Amino acid sequence: MKTMEDVQQTKQENVQAYVERIMKIIEKRNPNEVEFHQAAKEVLDSLVPVLVKHPEYIDHAIVERMVEPDRLLTFRVPWVDDQGRVKVNRGFRVQFNNAIGPYKGGLRFHPSVNASIIKFLGFEQIFKNSLTGQPIGGGKGGSDFDPKGKSDLEIMRFCQSFMNELANHIGPDVDVPAGDIGVGAREIGYMFGQYKKLRGAYEAGVLTGKGLGYGGSLGRKEATGYGTVYFVDEMLKDNGLSFKDKTVVVSGSGNVSIYAIEKATELGAKVIACSDSSGYIYDANGIDLETIKQLKEVENKRIYHYLDHHPNALYMEGCAGIWSLPCDIALPCATQNELDEQSANMLIENGVKAVGEGANMPTTLDAIHTFMDNDVLFAPAKAANAGGVAVSALEMAQNSARLAWTVEEVDGKLKQIMKNIYQDSVQASEEYGVAGNLVTGANIAGFKKVADAMIAQGVN
Ligand code: NDP
Repeated sequence: MKTMEDVQQTKQENVQAYVERIMKIIEKRNPNEVEFHQAAKEVLDSLVPVLVKHPEYIDHAIVERMVEPDRLLTFRVPWVDDQGRVKVNRGFRVQFNNAIGPYKGGLRFHPSVNASIIKFLGFEQIFKNSLTGQPIGGGKGGSDFDPKGKSDLEIMRFCQSFMNELANHIGPDVDVPAGDIGVGAREIGYMFGQYKKLRGAYEAGVLTGKGLGYGGSLGRKEATGYGTVYFVDEMLKDNGLSFKDKTVVVSGSGNVSIYAIEKATELGAKVIACSDSSGYIYDANGIDLETIKQLKEVENKRIYHYLDHHPNALYMEGCAGIWSLPCDIALPCATQNELDEQSANMLIENGVKAVGEGANMPTTLDAIHTFMDNDVLFAPAKAANAGGVAVSALEMAQNSARLAWTVEEVDGKLKQIMKNIYQDSVQASEEYGVAGNLVTGANIAGFKKVADAMIAQGVN
């Protein structure tokens, strides 16, 4: 006779086989899109316990529907450089899921951008946005345009051309893009100006990350980096630890990194290293953030120029070497797959206690398993870096209400949101029998809200 345990075991195996079948369909339908496969696999594997407990999600084909975007737009972006030559780039927007609100997600301008990158980012955005508790769906976009070395006028012409097409597909209640790698306040400003011109109307809520003088929110620039540190701080506190007197390594030196460094330092940590795509700097005295801000936010210079101001610091070519530095807390804040299994092993050998993902999918699946197998506290991107999009949603709320909150109000809400995301992720991990596994906890907590909304809204 079959025991309850046998029945449970069979259910578990059936769901595992079901998830593997969906993974095969994803790989067949999206050939060569390795980043998208990686993001999908991480989520699908963690959904097994929730699908065992709630077979209605299988009956409604929720997972099959979630992994197929509502639409993927690609378009030509022609522009003229300063020498009068015509250039052509490719633009993308993926509108993945709008079950709980308008599509929402950043735009990335980087030569590595392709359909796989945009789809992995858009897919993750569904769950991240759900976790924030704000009414926003999942989307993402960008272009293979490389902003490095371009003049201000070239950037403006590119942004205007990009918006000429994108404007047909976005709107404050439809799809609300924001910044990401290579897209900051300057680019958002040029795109907003073009959108306004094309629409003949002032629709402030169509883009977030705007300048403060025309509808931007105080605290948005800092939100992703601060939010990551708030989330990691919650995780540390829950385990009897804190940032105080800890040694921290932060990769990257862009928007997320700069404000993660700022908040970690404010909480008493010493940040000893950061990087750009050429190499990393190590300053045993602690990174001087004002120098980094001047180099990266004002002068647009490479990170090795830090040594012009701090000759005792060290510069090393290459990015991965940053993970060989002994530290208590590692915050990968640059780009996808920047921290692999080998780097994870180096960090573990050097005594790392916690890892918090500021970037999207910066840790490979093998590296995540290595951290977990070695009891390193691990804060996954979907939860830890959700502060940026959460404050973007607050920017939309302020635009709709035609008012502006103080920085204290925004920061207070951000802190509370990050705390809630942490608690929801922990609670889901406990409820589904994987206590302490925040990767699974965050995926399940984000998934359920969207899945329930999809069921309520019928098959569409
Ligand atoms: P920025 O463009 O401001 O900074 C990116 C940083 O990462 C730069 O230092 C850049 O160096 C470095 N970098 C980029 N590509 C590579 C690479 N291939 N190898 C090594 N380093 C690289 O971007 P953000 O700070 O906005 O974004 C960083 C990460 O955070 C991304 O994964 C993004 O998706 C994620 N994120 C951002 C949010 C936001 O609000 N901005 C919200 C949530 C997630 P270099 O200048 O040399 O290219």
